[in-house]
Amino acid sequence: MNPVIEARNLRFSYDSGFQALRGVDFRLDPGQSMALLGPNGSGKTTFLLHLNGVLQGEGELRVCGLPVEPRHFVAIRRKVGLLFQDPEDQLFLPSILEDVCFGPLQCGLPPSEAEARARKVLHQVGVLDGWDRPPYHLSGGEKQRVALAGILALEPEILILDEPTTHLDPPARRLLLELLQSLPQAKLVVTHDTAFARA
Ligand code: ADP
Ligand code: MG
Repeated sequence: MNPVIEARNLRFSYDSGFQALRGVDFRLDPGQSMALLGPNGSGKTTFLLHLNGVLQGEGELRVCGLPVEPRHFVAIRRKVGLLFQDPEDQLFLPSILEDVCFGPLQCGLPPSEAEARARKVLHQVGVLDGWDRPPYHLSGGEKQRVALAGILALEPEILILDEPTTHLDPPARRLLLELLQSLPQAKLVVTHDTAFARA
């Protein structure tokens, strides 16, 4: 089975000279769920940002068989759905529906199809109505589910979540867990929540 993510000796230094990745070897297989744990500042987010080419280091990195290089960024960004730690960083349009339609429209889907997809994924994440509301009126858990819907609307092969439970209360955490368990994609989840990681 070909891995969906494969890193060999991945290294990266920030402009400040700080070396955040010092030879990362990593592999994630199709359908596999993996939790990534580590202290603050250990380079978890830095690693995730390499997986869709936001940051580029040295060494080998392949996503769905494609080397993570500028010529493959468009293809790779459709395959990798990255949920940022703070959903505020991901939501920016005046209504929930428009926000979730944004990605599919960017990918060239006709508006009617983009909207059909948005409706489907909003149901999937449990946001069933009020889609004309502005995302900034939502609770933390709802914002996160809308942000996740925006990612699912692109039908990615890999889901990557950066500390997704930080802003969630226990019921919202349980909802997220059930949702993730119901999704077939390979998943890489950065978390400090060991119970969540185990589940
Ligand atoms: P984690 O997600 O595991 O908490 P990060 O990947 O965010 O860690 O950060 C890893 C290290 O890189 C930290 O020491 C952090 O201070 C440093 N770092 C992160 N972003 C930058 C940046 N833009 N410029 C310089 N150093 C950074
Ligand atoms: Mg981080």
